[in-house]
Amino acid sequence: MSDDTIFSKIIRGEIPAERVYEDELCICIKDINPQAPTHVLVIPRKAIPRLADATDEDKALLGHLMLSVGEIARKLGVDEAFRVVVNNGEAAGQTVFHLHLHILANKTFSEGSL
Ligand code: C5P
Repeated sequence: MSDDTIFSKIIRGEIPAERVYEDELCICIKDINPQAPTHVLVIPRKAIPRLADATDEDKALLGHLMLSVGEIARKLGVDEAFRVVVNNGEAAGQTVFHLHLHILANKTFSEGSL
């Protein structure tokens, strides 16, 4: 599993992406294949392949990502209703092995379902 995924290339600016937010620890881009009218990805600059690969050393970073989700949701005007999804591992649907949080909003979510 290489660290040099498409997201590392996007972070380095080698591949274009529509950035909606960035700071010293993460970037947020619009998903190129949106599954909801609002679908963005929060991506840490540090290349952790999967959530399960994060360690104690990443505690502050993981907290930062969650707080950034709230900030980004407010910025996008969707903070009253959104979902956050992290796919961990191929069998769970992960296709890019650089940790990222999906924020999905502006669609009707069925109650109690994932
Ligand atoms: O969780 P998963 O690994 O499947 O999510 C990867 C996401 O990255 C997909 O939703 C895909 O549409 C998105 N993507 C993107 N820009 C790329 C490559 C993938 O937004 N250049």
